[in-house]
Amino acid sequence: MINNGGYNTPSGWNAVARNRVVGARLQRDLKVRFLVVGAGFAGLAIARRLASRYPDESIALIDALEPAQNSSGRNSGFMINLPFAKIRTSASTAQSQWQTRIMSMGQQLLEQTITHHAIDCDWHTVGHYKAATTAFGVAQLQQLRQTLAVNRIASRRLSTDDIRNELGTTHYLDAIWISQCSLVQPAELIHGLVGSLPKNVQSYFGCPVSGITGNNPHVVKAGTNQICADTVFLAVNTMLAAFGHAKYRQLAMYTYAGLSRPLGEQYRTLLGNQEQWGVTPVEQLEATSRKTADNRLLLRAGFSYKSELAPDQVRQILQAKLRARYPDAPVDMFEHAWGGAVSLTRNGDAVFGQLGRRLYGVSGCNASGILKMTALGSLLADMACDLDSPLLQESQLHCRPGFIPPEPFRTVAVNLNLQKLKRQLQPNQGK
Ligand SMILES: Cc1cc2nc3c(=O)[nH]c(=O)nc-3n(C[C@H](O)[C@H](O)[C@H](O)COP(=O)(O)OP(=O)(O)OC[C@H]3O[C@@H](n4cnc5c(N)ncnc54)[C@H](O)[C@@H]3O)c2cc1C
Repeated sequence: MINNGGYNTPSGWNAVARNRVVGARLQRDLKVRFLVVGAGFAGLAIARRLASRYPDESIALIDALEPAQNSSGRNSGFMINLPFAKIRTSASTAQSQWQTRIMSMGQQLLEQTITHHAIDCDWHTVGHYKAATTAFGVAQLQQLRQTLAVNRIASRRLSTDDIRNELGTTHYLDAIWISQCSLVQPAELIHGLVGSLPKNVQSYFGCPVSGITGNNPHVVKAGTNQICADTVFLAVNTMLAAFGHAKYRQLAMYTYAGLSRPLGEQYRTLLGNQEQWGVTPVEQLEATSRKTADNRLLLRAGFSYKSELAPDQVRQILQAKLRARYPDAPVDMFEHAWGGAVSLTRNGDAVFGQLGRRLYGVSGCNASGILKMTALGSLLADMACDLDSPLLQESQLHCRPGFIPPEPFRTVAVNLNLQKLKRQLQPNQGK
């Protein structure tokens, strides 16, 4: 039995979104040529691409949750069109070049749709800061500066005064600003993408798929209804294993975010003198932060394996990160706090391709999926429609997620990895 019961708390971005679409319910059986399960960045890109290829065919998109209550509407909204910003030294040159092309493709697809449909989603290309809070991070940042210079990507190192003036904190030991990155209000973007789907895509929300039988056609159970589909796409993020696929190629992690209310005049300078900014950490376990144009602070911090933490634990984690950065911030600053699932793979490669007869799947965003899942979704639709391209061929080559052992070895491996990452945060690491 497949179950996607949703999250403990709603997405804060969705709560403050100005434009929201209301998801239709599935109230009858359907017979369609294509069915896409999952309305995140991956599923929306698949549906849009199929619709442009087959404008006269029936396409259904179905999701267990309401629009923008998924990870795609819960994330931090960074679209970093740059693989090295992750400092993944293990990636080969060919892999890095492919990643750059994939992210450019994702960005182009989203930009085209946003422009064409005038989607108001606070998309701003402002670059981003990469900041270190430990000696390990400072050493990594130095390495990144060299990589950026070699690749002729504009960056600027901040002095201690710059960090305080621009970001309003003295928490970071070192920081650079990198020209590449757009920031977005993710829930507004998802609502805009759902609301602008082509006419031949029927979308249904609040309808969990509980099983798929047969394959010619696929018979999909959704609530009390059934959908017969020639071709099915599973764009269900961490839930792919529940459908019986990629069980040993990906695992589910949760990460957490808090969004403040707009800070009033009293706190006008708390977050520095820039109108808006985004900071990603060098150390994987450190926090991501953002100042929005309406003077809100977003903090993303903490991880848990397999299951979501309780809301009070989430607030404790966020509060500790807030105090470290902004000791003068108001108490109970976070109006909203929430968690979201991300699908991780062993080597960072996505799960992408054919899973069975006329059955296709994509997951393994590895915590940065706005651009990647958009591009891979679109390419997966191409694959199912026999539309070949060099980028599709490269994607098949570069999406080879490594084997992840079953339990109990999996939990042991996750804990060992988390311990390794925690050691990076110790004061004498990297010196
Ligand atoms: C707190 C947080 C911060 C993040 N920050 C960033 C960031 O700044 N930049 C970035 O690029 N990425 C970020 N990410 C990752 C990003 O959100 C994901 O990579 C992306 O949303 C994945 O898109 P998706 O379409 O694969 O999955 P999802 O958005 O999770 O969509 C999958 C959909 O499948 C549906 N589904 C699952 N099971 C069923 C079922 N049985 N029946 C019907 N529907 C089902 C789900 O309801 C869901 O809507 C962040 C994630 C989190 C949680």
